[in-house]
Amino acid sequence: MKYTITLIPGDGIGPEVSLAAKRCIEATGVDIKWEEFVAGEEAIKRFGTPLPDQIIDSIKKNKVAIKGPIVTPVGSGFRSVNVQLRHALDLYACLRPAKTIDGVHTPFKNVDIVIVRENSEDLYLGIEFQEGSPECGKIIETINSLSPKKVRSDSGISIKPISRFATERIVRFAFEYAVKNNRKKVTAVHKANIMKHTDGLFLAIAREVAKEYEGRIEFGDAIVDNLSMQLVTRPQNFDVLVLPNLYGDIVSDLCAGLIGGLGVAPGANIGDDTALFEPVHGSAPKYAGQNKVNPTATILSGVMMLKYIGEEQAALELERATLDVIKEGKFVTYDLKKDRNDVSAVSTSGMADAIIKKIKKA
Ligand code: NAD
Repeated sequence: MKYTITLIPGDGIGPEVSLAAKRCIEATGVDIKWEEFVAGEEAIKRFGTPLPDQIIDSIKKNKVAIKGPIVTPVGSGFRSVNVQLRHALDLYACLRPAKTIDGVHTPFKNVDIVIVRENSEDLYLGIEFQEGSPECGKIIETINSLSPKKVRSDSGISIKPISRFATERIVRFAFEYAVKNNRKKVTAVHKANIMKHTDGLFLAIAREVAKEYEGRIEFGDAIVDNLSMQLVTRPQNFDVLVLPNLYGDIVSDLCAGLIGGLGVAPGANIGDDTALFEPVHGSAPKYAGQNKVNPTATILSGVMMLKYIGEEQAALELERATLDVIKEGKFVTYDLKKDRNDVSAVSTSGMADAIIKKIKKA
């Protein structure tokens, strides 16, 4: 085997879309040995933890992984496995291209945006204090003694740290991506008018880093609410977006909507020497086990993975086959049909079969 790659099928629709992607990747002829692991709720049942240590060890060893989505309980329960993985492996850059696909029905044309989301800090660091707890009381007391503005004693607290280090690292990643991929402009997204010491710092550092690329890559900035409006009126005006963690998460789904929905939006989490590929979408529990949802987002995440490991030809071939099937519009899942109730829609595995038929092995 030429490559050993960690595979985490995930839960909900994860196993279905992951199997489809695995079969499509294998059809390119690239020689891969998969190390497969369960995570999330299934892992809790079997091993008492949603993220067993073997998963982290395997990814650290293999340096490359692909995963399906994993449920995150809302409000209580275990911390997001997805966020834990990104933190444990220092996968600080979340890369999410949103490009118009021929044959996908959407009112937005010629969208070609790349989202670079900071993955390591912001409100996702998970520093939170429960309303009414002694720790929360102490934090509120301290804030009220230091700040002229007062926090109510019955508040819960989530902390939003934005550092020089992580901002410089992610903005540089965005510019380097722009240089290597012939992109023209990087836009830093923020709410610096309100959060002067977090988003304000993000913007100030983005401006500093941008100077190093002057004359090569254009730079601009946008306030996140205004950006959201502009994205749904003139998405063609945007190229590479670099955002702190929370805005990156939200704007990723918005951009997925621009290109036709979560079923077609791929992604990657990238660190200095390790990368984990996964679709933007979640585990869509209501569709789990029905072999119904669109595998494209995970397959295109596989295309990103093949490019990352240097299998450029196989990547291009898998991408071409996938885009051909979508353009023809026949063997596609319900969400890619003009009418979502169209009975000619095929299953998750049926769409993968159609893609595999079109792949020419290298
Ligand atoms: P979701 O992305 O799972 O689904 C929202 C809706 O989008 C679905 O109901 C469906 O209509 C559509 N959709 C999603 N994937 C699709 C596909 N492949 N094909 C066709 N349609 C698709 O979002 P949610 O319902 O908010 O989240 C469900 C769970 O997933 C939550 O527990 C959430 O925390 C988790 N989640 C995990 C990840 C991850 O693993 N990286 C990312 C996002 C959400």
